[in-house]
Amino acid sequence: MRLRFLLWFGMRKHSEKFSVKPFEKGLRGAGAGPLRWGCRGAAPAGGSGAAPLKGGKKIKVTAAGKAGIIKSKRNFAKKGMKHVHYLDNSATSPVLPEAAQAAMDAMTSGFGNPSSQHRLGGAAARLLKESRETIAAALGAQPGEITFTSGGTESINTALFGAAFKNRHQGRHIVTTAIEHAATRNACKRLESEGFSVTYLAPDADGQISAADFAAVLREDTILASIMLVNNEVGSCLPVEEMGAILARQCPGALLHVDAVQGLFRVPLTPKKWHCHLMSVSGHKIGAPKGVGALYTQQGVRLRPYLVGGGQENGMRAGTEPMPAIAAFAAACRVRAAHLQADNRHVAGLNAYLRAQVAEKLPWAVWNGRSGVPHVANLSLPGCKSEVMLRVLEGEEVYVSAGSACSKGKESPVLKAMGLDHARIDSALRISFSPDNTREDVDALMAGLQKGAGMLRRQPAGAKRA
Ligand code: PLP
Repeated sequence: MRLRFLLWFGMRKHSEKFSVKPFEKGLRGAGAGPLRWGCRGAAPAGGSGAAPLKGGKKIKVTAAGKAGIIKSKRNFAKKGMKHVHYLDNSATSPVLPEAAQAAMDAMTSGFGNPSSQHRLGGAAARLLKESRETIAAALGAQPGEITFTSGGTESINTALFGAAFKNRHQGRHIVTTAIEHAATRNACKRLESEGFSVTYLAPDADGQISAADFAAVLREDTILASIMLVNNEVGSCLPVEEMGAILARQCPGALLHVDAVQGLFRVPLTPKKWHCHLMSVSGHKIGAPKGVGALYTQQGVRLRPYLVGGGQENGMRAGTEPMPAIAAFAAACRVRAAHLQADNRHVAGLNAYLRAQVAEKLPWAVWNGRSGVPHVANLSLPGCKSEVMLRVLEGEEVYVSAGSACSKGKESPVLKAMGLDHARIDSALRISFSPDNTREDVDALMAGLQKGAGMLRRQPAGAKRA
């Protein structure tokens, strides 16, 4: 009882002091809070991220702060404010203020269950409908073709297991590539253990898979193909449109699944044009929180749902819809859609700047793969072990990754499949941009790489590198 009173009292105090403010429409990035994402947008009034409160008190505004979720300066001072250069956006991205605010609204004023029959339920159902429409538009789909899931992995699993088991009476052959994300790779491995046969198409040294190779492996008993749109480690764009046409011609009964997790808002999604039946996307790659994604299922295609219960999501995925995450996903889509062209131009400029800087300051470094998108770049600095370089960069508050976030510490199966030598794989770094990055982030990365290379390449030959 005492605890409940304290909680209630604390919340009341908090909401009196820091009532949630309406978020600023179109505001990009965060100010100079403890995590500053190298924003392109204007800093809030008060300069360097300090916004005045009533009575002259100042607060520091974080990404969440811009959404109205604010913290006192004292809290930040304790934690030690640092400028973070986050260049690992293919692993995950900071939540956009607009998305945080949408989640906040869905958790507070709009907390109803969309299946409830009363007014609050009706409001949540409307929010769900609007969110579905927004996401459908981003995916080039109809609202009825969208199922909300917990993210890319769940969408991919639902698609692959659903399609394989639906079509197993027609055949047991599946085609995918050797450079897919672990969600596809491991779903295929499991399908193999359950009696399906899987062909993994090998990439060339640039991380590309040819449509001709795809055509050559199709068989009479091919029931499913799962191809990624944009590779998450090297950024290669696979020819899904050509492959879709080939599959439709050679195996008309087979289904095509496209993993578009790294493609959303980076390349146009046109599932109808691709003859694509199933397509997976994830929210946290575009500024929504983790734990929400969507599966496009072409109208008329029906898979066996693996979650049964209350029949939500048109019977495809039972369970009360996670409205805060869904509303945030839709809000992130609206922001990304509104700035799409400018964002992509900005990111392309950053990529070009990075390449010019590397050519000038680290001419011995090697680029891996032929990236078809500006937001992913993969660079090897032979002689500088990735894991050690990551630590050096981290010391400078620069964050990149050594490959997919899911292959922590293991040799990249993507770079291995591309046939790169050990020295290149062992020193590979993936740099992935978001529209909120700046040249300052690239400069910090370059300074960190030069520092790391100076330390790691100075070691005498034969010395054991950490
Ligand atoms: N597919 C690709 C290409 C990815 O990059 C990722 C995440 O890194 C996923 C699937 C899995 O998405 P999620 O993290 O939402 O499960």
